[in-house]
Amino acid sequence: MMDVYIIVFFIFGTIIGSFLNVVIYRLPREKSIISPPSSCPECGKKIRWYENIPIISYIFLRGKCSSCGTRISLRYPFVEFLTGIFSSLTYVKWGLSLDTFFCFIFLSLIIAVIFIDIDFKIIPDEINLLGFISGIIYSFFRTDFSILDSIIGAFVGAGFLFLIAYFYLKVKKIEGLGFGDVKLLAFVGTYLGWFGSLFTIFFGSLLGAIVGIGYSLLSKGKYEGKLEIPFGPFLGIAAVIYLFFGEDIRRFYFGG
Ligand SMILES: [Zn+2]
Repeated sequence: MMDVYIIVFFIFGTIIGSFLNVVIYRLPREKSIISPPSSCPECGKKIRWYENIPIISYIFLRGKCSSCGTRISLRYPFVEFLTGIFSSLTYVKWGLSLDTFFCFIFLSLIIAVIFIDIDFKIIPDEINLLGFISGIIYSFFRTDFSILDSIIGAFVGAGFLFLIAYFYLKVKKIEGLGFGDVKLLAFVGTYLGWFGSLFTIFFGSLLGAIVGIGYSLLSKGKYEGKLEIPFGPFLGIAAVIYLFFGEDIRRFYFGG
């Protein structure tokens, strides 16, 4: 029997994903995320409610603005779909619980971080702060985790990344890491704890290195030294992996 909640959670997730698209577009441009209602960035035509149904509208509009025909990026339905999948997965893993609620907040914020960092090479303070506060609040309700674990997680993650950023800046004179990444680890640490923070940094670095090397090989060194790959997306992916598989990763690492 298919659990109908999986579908309910998926639909709910796509609606939140639609809102995340607005956040990703407007927050780094310092526009209000509440008003005005969405419009085509090309011709300014207001998007009607039936043109704003997650994923479905994109298919019916064939990926074009109904007024001027400008292509709508495939990323919009992708973000909606991804958020829907994450929403369903939180339900599958944590059921109808506060864990599901808070972990979905975590995942939604990480999605916003990943795409804003790809577009603008920044991670807005608003997102990191919201994540940090929600992680602290969540720790009050957790059975596996105390508020102290949450705060230590934030300090270990942000502190470790800060030292790396400082080293690059002062010793190697490279602005390799943004302080947005440091603040991101403070947010991530409140949810994942000290071990999850360190996992996020190491696994995120590994992913970044693999992609960076792959990219420079494919481009035959064309971007050598000039290529600026944002770190946030890799940290975000690593944090999501730990959120879902943290227990297995800890068991693998510590044995038992
Ligand atoms: Zn248009």
